[in-house]
Amino acid sequence: MARAKRSLGQNFLVDPGVARRIVDAASIAPSDSVLEIGPGRGALTEILCHRAGRLLAIEKDDELFPALAARFAGDPKVTVVHGDALDYDLDGLLPGAPWKVIANLPYNVATPIALRLMARGDLFSDLVLMFQREVAARLAAAPGGGEYGIPSVIARVYSEPYLLFSVQPGSFRPVPKVVSTVVRFRVRREPLVPAEEIPAFERVVRCSFHGRRKTLLNSLATSELALDPGRVRSACARAGIDPGRRAETLAVLEFLALERAIGEVAGAEGDAPVRRARPGG
Ligand code: SAM
Repeated sequence: MARAKRSLGQNFLVDPGVARRIVDAASIAPSDSVLEIGPGRGALTEILCHRAGRLLAIEKDDELFPALAARFAGDPKVTVVHGDALDYDLDGLLPGAPWKVIANLPYNVATPIALRLMARGDLFSDLVLMFQREVAARLAAAPGGGEYGIPSVIARVYSEPYLLFSVQPGSFRPVPKVVSTVVRFRVRREPLVPAEEIPAFERVVRCSFHGRRKTLLNSLATSELALDPGRVRSACARAGIDPGRRAETLAVLEFLALERAIGEVAGAEGDAPVRRARPGG
């Protein structure tokens, strides 16, 4: 058997009870289409192929892929493809949405893969994903807690996250140094922020968290937005938000109101609105 590759985040599940619990969490019906990211040695795939109506598995590893493809070649419901979940053409692959996604994600690319999938509410309805515990806590955090930050806000734009259960290091080979956590994301068909506003919204969120322990007034006035304190105060007033609050207390819809108010304040004073301020920002 090929050696596990750290570069691909390979810690394979060897506890069949945990594998079943993860699959159970997605409540898969025989009519469901399921996408698995990183099937690896097939611990989840082996269960999924008996439950799903259709299963598509994307594996990046050149060595693992041929063995997996051969193992499931006789099952017409299963397709194993060789590819990278970070840039795979999901549109080309997934007619007949919505799909459910199940994955024990490689730790080094877990957050970008999760965010990429949940941004496609037109394709996916539910994601059941396993992460390193700290990453799961950040992605699923609610406003007000110490874990709540930029990835938590973005995840809530696209989904409702639920922390499910932890998995101890002994359930994997090689044994990782960290505990893992399984999270279910109910993907919103329509994100809370319209697609065309996402760049401006993300910029305001980033700038609000710019000084983690600072008030919104301090963070925004010293960020790349280059707003003077007076304009931060008037934007907050328009949005109905106390400028003395900290970013980690704001819900998604409050950030959205703030982003719109900042655009209005900047526009009213003859500046370029924030939403058009910087290409790629
Ligand atoms: N699902 C298996 C299990 O639970 O035992 C393997 C999980 S292992 C943590 C992560 C898997 O994702 C590995 O098989 C790895 O090769 C694969 N992988 C890593 N990066 C990937 C990527 N960008 N796209 C698709 N698969 C990837």
